[in-house]
Amino acid sequence: MVQKNNQPVASIPSRLLLPIKTFLESEIIKWKRTEKDIKKSDPFSDTNRLMQNSVEQDVDEQVGHFESEVKVSFVKKQLVQLRKALTMIKVGKYGICEKCGKMIDTDRLAVKPEVTICINCAVDRE
Ligand SMILES: [Zn+2]
Repeated sequence: MVQKNNQPVASIPSRLLLPIKTFLESEIIKWKRTEKDIKKSDPFSDTNRLMQNSVEQDVDEQVGHFESEVKVSFVKKQLVQLRKALTMIKVGKYGICEKCGKMIDTDRLAVKPEVTICINCAVDRE
């Protein structure tokens, strides 16, 4: 049998992957709930709101709507990142930087289990 050499140098042991997977999945549920709550608090989602607002009310609503949009886009980014990390687990590449292919520092993963790039690549991106 020919040994394929495309295996990562080291990978996170599967006994550690399960709690990470569980964590990521629970985070996804949490963020989805947050997204729903934000959308509910968006004044634009209130169909009963008066269309003949005062200018002040209008500004409040615009600001409230803008805030909701910003929050929702943040939550969406979180969800994308969490799903990406889950996919990495599925394909057996969790803990490997998607940019340079090196192992991501485990301290970094312990703090942010959803990261899929190493600290060096993260710094480069900013
Ligand atoms: Zn990297």
